[in-house]
Amino acid sequence: MPPTSTHFSIRPIPSAGRGVLASTPLAPNTPLLLSPPPAAHVIFRQYRREVCAHCLHYDRGRTLPVRDAPIGKVFCAEPCRAAWREAQGPLGVEAWTALETFVRSRAKSVVSTLAQAAVGAKPGAQAVVATWEAAAEVGALHARARGGGVGAADSGPGIKADREYRRALHHVWTQSVDPDILGYLLSGVLTAHGDAGYWQREVEGLAMDEEAYKDTADLEAHCNAFLQLVATVPRELVGSCTVEVCQTLANASSHNSFGIRAGGDEGEEYMGYALYPEASYFNHSCSPSVRKKRVGRQWEFSTAREVGEGEELCITYLGGDEKDLTVTQRRERLRGVWGFECMCERCRREDTS
Ligand SMILES: [Zn+2]
Ligand SMILES: [Zn+2]
Repeated sequence: MPPTSTHFSIRPIPSAGRGVLASTPLAPNTPLLLSPPPAAHVIFRQYRREVCAHCLHYDRGRTLPVRDAPIGKVFCAEPCRAAWREAQGPLGVEAWTALETFVRSRAKSVVSTLAQAAVGAKPGAQAVVATWEAAAEVGALHARARGGGVGAADSGPGIKADREYRRALHHVWTQSVDPDILGYLLSGVLTAHGDAGYWQREVEGLAMDEEAYKDTADLEAHCNAFLQLVATVPRELVGSCTVEVCQTLANASSHNSFGIRAGGDEGEEYMGYALYPEASYFNHSCSPSVRKKRVGRQWEFSTAREVGEGEELCITYLGGDEKDLTVTQRRERLRGVWGFECMCERCRREDTS
């Protein structure tokens, strides 16, 4: 369901799909929208002792006081831990515990790659399809052996399938472990499992990046993480831990997620990212009329200046320093990360070529 407000409406926009238009003249600092918590998110493992898993509070790199060892997360205070556990529910807590146990058991193979630069070219669409198809086959063996997902009602794996399964399981246990990809996917799988309607309506409807992986290793790491999840999550979750859900999470993240940064929107420290379907309604401008500010796990949107009736309300997709780039550099950045040629008012004004 698109967000509704007396301040704006969501309408089709020529060349940009849809956009948010001011319904009335708006004064500066008018609150527009408070997004719900993210559909999926990850705090990179290197920050796991410094960022509250519930409210995303960060205290200049200090280790936070409340540690919940079985789930491998820290909290700024006891109420945050209680709220997190309640929001996750018993199944979620069980899943995070299983994941943490798995990651710790493979401590020597842990490699966090999400915040790293790409090595080599992006894999093309065909490679993406083929790699996921191979993962889906192995995933189906896992799901069947665990008594969840497609084919769960089968009378059990035959001898050949059993051998294949053991080989597949061996493969999963010998691959490296990326706790960040695992955490991001698990948070999304739990959302999809908890509210299928929301998932279909909000998440599956997002703009998807069909070439979402920065390099081949990233694609393989996502497929491995999917298989490791199928093998480790509680049985009840296996049916929701599908290739489709994991691909949706990967493809939606490049165009619809926000970085979790130390100082809110402008902070330098890049500590993770989060997928906010509701925020995706705002298009980008290099001189945005809307300011966004992170308040705990939510984003608050308000007008950055006076906005006329019918004017489009835009946020900026650029990070703090990137706003000072030249028009050519900004366009290159936006094309690379978000896949569009910026034709905003500022870019048109500064483009003298
Ligand atoms: Zn907290
Ligand atoms: Zn622009």
